[in-house]
Amino acid sequence: MNMQKIILKKGKEKSVLNKHPWIFSGAVATADAFDGQLTLVCASDGTELAWGYYNSRCDIAVRILRFDNVKPDNDLLVSRVRQAVAARHIAGIPQYTNAYRIIHSEGDFLPGLIVDWYAGHCVMQILTCGMEQLKVTIAQILKDILNPMSIYERSDHEGRKIEGLHPVSGQIYGTTPDVIEISENDMRFLVDVKRGQKTGFFCDQRDNRNTVRRLAHGRDVLNLFSYTGGFSVAALTGAARVAISVDSSQDALDLAVKNCRLNGVEAQHSIVKEDVFDYINTHDIEQNFIVCDPPALVKNKAHIPQALRGYKELNLKIMRKAPRNSLLLTCSCSRFVDVKLFQQVIFGAAVDAGRDVQIIGKFSQPLDHPVSVYCPETEYLKAMLLRIT
Ligand code: SAH
Repeated sequence: MNMQKIILKKGKEKSVLNKHPWIFSGAVATADAFDGQLTLVCASDGTELAWGYYNSRCDIAVRILRFDNVKPDNDLLVSRVRQAVAARHIAGIPQYTNAYRIIHSEGDFLPGLIVDWYAGHCVMQILTCGMEQLKVTIAQILKDILNPMSIYERSDHEGRKIEGLHPVSGQIYGTTPDVIEISENDMRFLVDVKRGQKTGFFCDQRDNRNTVRRLAHGRDVLNLFSYTGGFSVAALTGAARVAISVDSSQDALDLAVKNCRLNGVEAQHSIVKEDVFDYINTHDIEQNFIVCDPPALVKNKAHIPQALRGYKELNLKIMRKAPRNSLLLTCSCSRFVDVKLFQQVIFGAAVDAGRDVQIIGKFSQPLDHPVSVYCPETEYLKAMLLRIT
């Protein structure tokens, strides 16, 4: 049988030897494999380096599953899933929430696979053609290891397009309710796993929600890009005076209202359905605690300058308008903007706003979104707590 094999160009094996899981198309000399197929990766001198899956359509031509010459099998996937589950328990996450990420793609050495756990239900998202071939196997492994009530697929991420994949959503196992109630640090949230953003909830902002809750006492809160009101509930359960959730999605705001009711804080909460860029142009800001958590404004490298202008505009307007002695939790979840670049944007905004701005906290993603030391790109969430005087 013809063995699937990729030969790298001379000198291009360095990143593989450093265990980076991505091989870019420019590093490939010859590829004898179909899209999505598991293939052996060899250096130009024939040395067998790694096994990964290939896709001729993508800049990232290979995503590596193991760094030796043993073909990945069921046992490898089982052990990776077990390791990922164990990592969440070691980190103590199930002690304070029943909604968390169980598999964080490259961060858990399973490129292209996201699995979130919502109170006994799994929601899985397949991002790549190679992982798509392993979907049935992965679903079976999740069933065996986690014994979930159900598994639902939300493979509707737009990044699938460049992989040559269509969006797919639907039931894989059992019955998933349309809305699942989860609890996180004594707060309760309704999660629309079938129609909500991503897999339904921003588990990655959990620790930052907690920070907001601790600091919100007596403050008036403006929650920009609120989605289903996570930061609003956190602020109000932390005894904020009032919170306003602003988002362009009525469905998200409807759920924000329900989430406030579920936590007994609906009387202090209001919603505004508006584009945030318009809102900050046309409204004064009277609140002294602002949260700004936009969607990823950079979807690819080509859009970095445009997106940086977006982050700058948002933060500049907020800094100009915020009352004295305000707090601003400002976030970016774009993986193409690292913390250094994000801080430069904040610096530029502060200079132009003519305000005194201090960084009093810098935060990232929580323990259920591990970062692979070999793949720093798995660190994507940046949040800075600023004091504006
Ligand atoms: N902060 C939220 C997550 C935000 S996700 C949380 O912690 O749960 C981004 C949100 O921004 C989505 O709800 C989306 O509907 C909204 N959105 C995207 N572009 C927008 C815009 N230009 N104006 C207002 N809302 C927008």
